[in-house]
Amino acid sequence: MLLRAGASVTVQAPGLCAALEAEAVARRVAHRAGTFRDEDLDGYSLTIAATDDEAVNRAVAAAARARRIPVNVVDVPALCSFIMPSIVERGPVIVAVSSGGKSPVLARLLRARLETLIPAGYGRLAFLAAEFRDKVKARFAFAERRRFWERTLQGPIAELVFSGRDDEARRAMQESLDDTRIGFSGGEVSLIGAGPGDPDLLTFRALRLMQQADVVVYDRLVSKPVLDLVRRDAEFIYAGKERAMHSLPQDDINHLLVRLAKEGKRVVRLKGGDPFIFGRGGEEIDTLAAEGIPFQVVPGITAASGCAVYAGIPLTHRDHSQAVIFVTGHLKDGSMDLNWPALAQPHQTVVFYMALLGTEILCRELIANGLPAATPAALVQQGTMPEQRVLVGTLETLPEILRVSDVKAPTLIIIGEVVKLRERLKWFEAAA
Ligand code: SAH
Repeated sequence: MLLRAGASVTVQAPGLCAALEAEAVARRVAHRAGTFRDEDLDGYSLTIAATDDEAVNRAVAAAARARRIPVNVVDVPALCSFIMPSIVERGPVIVAVSSGGKSPVLARLLRARLETLIPAGYGRLAFLAAEFRDKVKARFAFAERRRFWERTLQGPIAELVFSGRDDEARRAMQESLDDTRIGFSGGEVSLIGAGPGDPDLLTFRALRLMQQADVVVYDRLVSKPVLDLVRRDAEFIYAGKERAMHSLPQDDINHLLVRLAKEGKRVVRLKGGDPFIFGRGGEEIDTLAAEGIPFQVVPGITAASGCAVYAGIPLTHRDHSQAVIFVTGHLKDGSMDLNWPALAQPHQTVVFYMALLGTEILCRELIANGLPAATPAALVQQGTMPEQRVLVGTLETLPEILRVSDVKAPTLIIIGEVVKLRERLKWFEAAA
């Protein structure tokens, strides 16, 4: 690896193994025999101690430090002034993965995953980009240039390179530069479902758009780990809603999105869960459509799916539940105006969103409308996140359980026989 990076390498050791001997004979590395003395490091700019003698390794580390030469002692992080990351190489593109010396195996596993994610043609793509760099610079101003490259490096031109058709890619590149009609001034809005909290539950498309955003407008429900995946240089605008304390009225949010897009920005509107499930996504795109702003909607995993799976509760089950209903438990003037007889049917699962304050009312109504008081009910707090808590009871006991449990929003309530299956699916927790 050192040789490949252009280093001139001296191996100091009393004797050489066959492989290194061959390198020395071919004059690819120099060999200095004899045991180590501190002065041997004079004039070198990097040291790696890889002997099986602890005392020698220590001596090398100390001598290197005294001379301010970076030193790595293999497998002894405490003696290292630098560590060697696992790397993924694609020509000039290099990705380094380090666990800070904590777990080289972990870094290697991650590297193996990156290997599968990064197309082999990335190196050639980088060379192609280099070829056109000056022309692109001359053609576009700063912001447009970035967009041009983002589109090119992950659009059809990149695909041509990945499939080995570099000449066609080169022609396409030239054409897109010659095409004066291309303008990148138009803004757009992506309404993106960010899922219930765990960033692993984002879609690929969500992630891609988040990483290209100029500005992101996000809700209270969007978790910090998800926000951390947005392009760092993007502008962040909080539009979150807290119960009874709306930070920005819905109408203002709608017009904010329009204004930002008209400024030519790529706007990402991040919403918890799925934008179209109790997310008011419909209203936001209404305004965008009326103003002629290009937009797209990216579905997300809704709280019901995320929380149920992470709590080990299947929402439907051949034997226990043939339907699932998502319903809002939001209180209007202290009451809940719902079709209770329809919700209080056997063999279905009912999932209540926004029902923390209404739990007592809904349990009472469901019993009053015919569901057995012993119907299983679960409350999932901060579902899919490391803080997730699941409280299990029945329609009769859940309100009391909540009273004594110091529950924090967001919470979701799942009602139906399927909740009992959690007992049987306990292995899931152990495995998770
Ligand atoms: N569009 C969102 C729902 C917005 S309504 C979605 O599809 O999930 C807000 C309600 O969603 C909260 O009151 C709560 O009931 C539920 N919710 C969202 N994220 C949650 C989470 N991580 N854990 C539990 N409930 C959650």
